[in-house]
Amino acid sequence: MSESLLSDAGKRLQAAMKYVSISEDAIERLKYPKFSLNVSIPVRMDDGSLKIFQGYRVRYDDTRGPGKGGVRYHPNVSLDEVQSLAFWMTFKCAVLNLPFGGAKGGITLNPKALSKLELERLSRGYIDAIADFIGPDVDILAPDVYTNAMVMGWMMDQYSIIRRQISPAVVTGKPLTMGGSVGRDGATAAGAYFVIESILPKLDLIPQQTTVAIQGFGKVGSVLAELLAIAGYKVVAVSDSQGGIYAKKGLDIPSIRQYKASSQGIKAVYCEGSVCNIVEHEVLTNQELLALDVDILIPAALENQITEENVDSIKAKYIFEVANGPITSAADKVLESKGIMVFPDILANAGGVTVSYFEWVQNRSGLYWTLEEVNQRLRQKMVEESKQIWSISQELAISLRTAAYVHALNRLGEALSAKGTRDYYINGRVS
Ligand code: GLU
Repeated sequence: MSESLLSDAGKRLQAAMKYVSISEDAIERLKYPKFSLNVSIPVRMDDGSLKIFQGYRVRYDDTRGPGKGGVRYHPNVSLDEVQSLAFWMTFKCAVLNLPFGGAKGGITLNPKALSKLELERLSRGYIDAIADFIGPDVDILAPDVYTNAMVMGWMMDQYSIIRRQISPAVVTGKPLTMGGSVGRDGATAAGAYFVIESILPKLDLIPQQTTVAIQGFGKVGSVLAELLAIAGYKVVAVSDSQGGIYAKKGLDIPSIRQYKASSQGIKAVYCEGSVCNIVEHEVLTNQELLALDVDILIPAALENQITEENVDSIKAKYIFEVANGPITSAADKVLESKGIMVFPDILANAGGVTVSYFEWVQNRSGLYWTLEEVNQRLRQKMVEESKQIWSISQELAISLRTAAYVHALNRLGEALSAKGTRDYYINGRVS
């Protein structure tokens, strides 16, 4: 049997441990999720039948604040996956210095096989099942793979019905009319863009001469592709779950986005209608896209995409992990030995949760910000933490991933130790 996602994620913690001087107690606490819930959600389907779905919510750690993290709808959702995603959220929130712990949720389903009404009943049923374990000061939900503002709106509404009070701050990523924040939709892509923008000058890369391939053309990958194309980068390949397209001289991203929105996927772009005439392109598989000889590779889909099996085929110089956990720890070692620099998920995709934090602050204060304010605060946070992680990696001569974990561990360790450690109790009284 292959190794569990959570134990693979834990290897990143071990790699960082030797560079921090935090108590053993703190490390021990971070090895296990604090709270894992598995619920069965009964849903009345449109044809009158009853179907039971499996749902999860995991609060990995809440020492630095209430749990925070998205809810994923996907056929592969399992407790192990949700636990590892909650682990990554814990470190991501600490990297960005957000006053949150880490959490995650999910439901095992194929969302494309359900009608909108069935999805609504399922989303409300999920909240009925977990309502006692979430809350604006306990654990705050958000969108993730195949969930969006509409789903978040149903969830926040259902929670408000149960509590008999309007509770916008229990969910982020809501529709604007229900207390959502401007800028939340494109925040993960914008955050990744700010990281690229702040670090690439250190690597002497000029946008117009930099080629980019993006795996995943969903709500993050497609927006990031457009931001990069506008800035002059040559986005030569993009893909979705059905496959991808490649053009040496660069793709016309705005047209592809438009086309994808009005059709089922990138596949529909293949030489049908106007986009094909704009630029000639070749069709490729996701595996071929990952193996392209480009400057920057951006996995923006799901976890476990670059593994021991395909790592030898990777030729990109830099990888930006916009998905959560797209590279296994074994593949990481190979990439490092090949001199390929990886910008880790817990930094590169942290823009989403950062604007979620802004949304939560706005909900609690009742004062709403402009898009300019949101973007300016997001930029400042992403640039600041990127710089710190870059310096740690240079000073200690370690990978950016290990540096990001060191940075997060220092913050987590401090918070955990403030509650008392072994030394504190053994070495006598409080003075
Ligand atoms: N699902 C996103 C992530 O993995 C956002 C989480 C949030 O906003 O709480 O970072």
